[in-house]
Amino acid sequence: MVAQKKVALACSVCGSRNYTIAANPNRQERLEIKKFCKYCQKYTLHRETR
Ligand SMILES: [Zn+2]
Repeated sequence: MVAQKKVALACSVCGSRNYTIAANPNRQERLEIKKFCKYCQKYTLHRETR
């Protein structure tokens, strides 16, 4: 298995990097997705970090 480039998804509220996903080289814009943050204890907007 080839090592995939990973990016983190950081909570936009508290800044915690709660998720890592495989980077998609075909996608240039920054991913923003609603995910559960265990620190905020609710669904918040998470942004891709590089
Ligand atoms: Zn949070």
